Amino acid sequence: MISVTHLGFPRIGARRELKQALESFWKGESAADALYAAAAALRERHWRLAGAAGADSVPCNDFSLYDQALDTAVLFDAIPASHRELYEHDPLAGYFALARGVQDGRRDLHALEMTKWFDTNYHYLVPQFEPGQRFALRADKPLAELAQAQALGLQARPVLLGPVTWLKLGKRRDGGDPRELLEALLPAYAQLLERLKAAGAQWVQIDEPALVLDLDDADRAAYRRAYAALAEADAPQRLLATYFGGLGDNAALAAQLPVQGLHLDLVRAPQQLESLLALLPAERALSLGVVDGRNIWRADLDAALSLARRAGERARWLAPSCSLLHVPTDLELERKLPGPLRQWMAYAKQKIEELRLLADALAGDERAARELAAAASARAARLASPLLRHPQVRKRLADVRPEMGRRASPYPRRIALQQKRLGLPPFPTTTIGSFPQTAQVRRARAEHKAGRLDDAGYRRFLEQETRDCLKEQEALGLDLLVHGEFERNDMVEYFGERLDGFAFTAHGWVQSYGSRCVKPPVLYGDVARPKPMTVRWTRYAQTQTERPVKGMLTGPVTILQWSFVRDDQPRADSCRQIALALREEVQDLDAAGIAAIQIDEPALREGLPLRRADWPAYLAWAGDCFRLAASGVSDATQIHTHMCYAEFNDIIEAVAALDADVISIETSRSRMELLDAFARYRYPNGIGPGVYDIHSPRVPSEAEMRALLDKALQVLAPEQLWVNPDCGLKTRGWPEVRAALQAMVQAARGLRESV
Ligand code: GLN
Ligand code: ZN
Repeated sequence: MISVTHLGFPRIGARRELKQALESFWKGESAADALYAAAAALRERHWRLAGAAGADSVPCNDFSLYDQALDTAVLFDAIPASHRELYEHDPLAGYFALARGVQDGRRDLHALEMTKWFDTNYHYLVPQFEPGQRFALRADKPLAELAQAQALGLQARPVLLGPVTWLKLGKRRDGGDPRELLEALLPAYAQLLERLKAAGAQWVQIDEPALVLDLDDADRAAYRRAYAALAEADAPQRLLATYFGGLGDNAALAAQLPVQGLHLDLVRAPQQLESLLALLPAERALSLGVVDGRNIWRADLDAALSLARRAGERARWLAPSCSLLHVPTDLELERKLPGPLRQWMAYAKQKIEELRLLADALAGDERAARELAAAASARAARLASPLLRHPQVRKRLADVRPEMGRRASPYPRRIALQQKRLGLPPFPTTTIGSFPQTAQVRRARAEHKAGRLDDAGYRRFLEQETRDCLKEQEALGLDLLVHGEFERNDMVEYFGERLDGFAFTAHGWVQSYGSRCVKPPVLYGDVARPKPMTVRWTRYAQTQTERPVKGMLTGPVTILQWSFVRDDQPRADSCRQIALALREEVQDLDAAGIAAIQIDEPALREGLPLRRADWPAYLAWAGDCFRLAASGVSDATQIHTHMCYAEFNDIIEAVAALDADVISIETSRSRMELLDAFARYRYPNGIGPGVYDIHSPRVPSEAEMRALLDKALQVLAPEQLWVNPDCGLKTRGWPEVRAALQAMVQAARGLRESV
């Protein structure tokens, strides 16, 4: 009989309870015990919720106080030397110091590098391995979570990050290949499996999403070696979980690994079922990932049903395609979704219910069969709905001409005109857009939303914030100013709310990193811009200062990437619609006299398909969309773009082809390493490599930033170099922002004097 399970549950809580508990602990407003209690309560609630929705079994150790890759580092004692003393002294403080850095009178520790988890908008902490790294087992967390589940009468399956994926995600401080650490890791890993078995675990789930990537011989050898070694251990049965795509050319490898179960992502790669059925040994149990763990649409249950039927006896579990970490918790909380949208959607809980329905229908339950038919017609109704189509948009897209995707003149001519217009000093200083979203700003927004602050009052408040922010920037001596983004809740939601084709949820929170969550808009229909979205605020800011103000937009790829996107047409088509709407906005800003316009594309890289073979097509349409949005302005208008958390080496050509006049990038956590790609490529346009890590409250010193700038100047021409933070400042507080920007401006001034 097939049973229902899932690979991991969102841990932040339907009402972001974990966020509140974490932030209150960090502020010193509550003790560690309160944080642990909140965490335990969430785990219990989520197990019960999954059970009530119809899951026959649940995972454990899918919870994390911050991040599962960081948990794995702690689990195997891969704690960098710099943080070890603190960790030994106070594990919780040490854990958060690894996650967020710490700066107090006694300590000044950096956070671990953070980067995106495969092609999602979740960020993990990059394991950092010391020269001569050894591993030891600190199994408290998985054992405690298993024990908690058992105490509730649950036979839970601990989730572990697989040894090969985890090592591949990490970096060695000596620059060596982390896979060489496998031999050192395996004994600790095997010991962990033995401990879990001794504690009563019957199954463990070992996540190896790296199996859907392009692998080389060394990877394949690592997989064979690792799983052969683990098979020797007195271990629970092992469910090897692959997700975020098909196994492709790694199918034979995965099929041969000595495990008892294999999870397949059959949403992104339904076709792989056939080949795996042919390859797998008869006794291998399959977990079928048939409901999309990455999107919020109701599943195509008919398609799922036929996949399950096709798998026949081999199918032991029905599951979402991947962990449900990437979707919100419970649609039932959404009371205000417009029209039929609510009927079209499913969150984590509803996805488990869909799986229950499938399992029951497979078992011959008639009520389930009827509900399945109803679900199929609801889905058909969505696909046929006129809400999805906007004939004028389609017409305008058909009329796009190739020259609309090119600036009028090449960069050298443009930059000369722009310099004349902007009159900025060498090494111009700027910021990435947002300034602190203080409690006051958030309160005013909430009051306005609740109707207690009227439109005029809210506008006056925002004008005041914007004016104050401009004054601060002037006092700090910044050169190219921004309005501060106080009117924006979120860089994607703000635009989505002003575009047709998007809907908004009240509880659709998804974890981005640590306590940070995003509420992705739901892109359900054709996109159009009924009226200007940012012109008023940008123009207002420009009337308040003599210095140039940079307009601030979110780019088409990022809006697409950070939304839940309709699945009834190619993503490229939806992206082009957004690009066309943004083009109108860019042109309106240009017409309003704004001399610099930034189009943020922090998600360009994360949109890359996981397989190289699919990259060129993606980069082509993503680049087309950016250029379509950006190119409708005069040569003298400076187009900026911004990207964060990106390795640029392998996409540098596409990034250069965007032909932005200036790009600002995140580089400070990697100590300018990320700049190498630009240097090697001889990237010709302006670059602002971030010199201040804004993801941590730590204030960098002038000398530290100057050192980064000097490092940048080893590979960049002086006239290319801009001086800016890594990213927007909205999550920071004013005192630290002021101090850091002051030091940053000093660093730029020092540099000007030295050359
Ligand atoms: N302009 C945005 C901001 O400053 C950019 C944020 C981002 O890149 N994630 O907040
Ligand atoms: Zn950024």
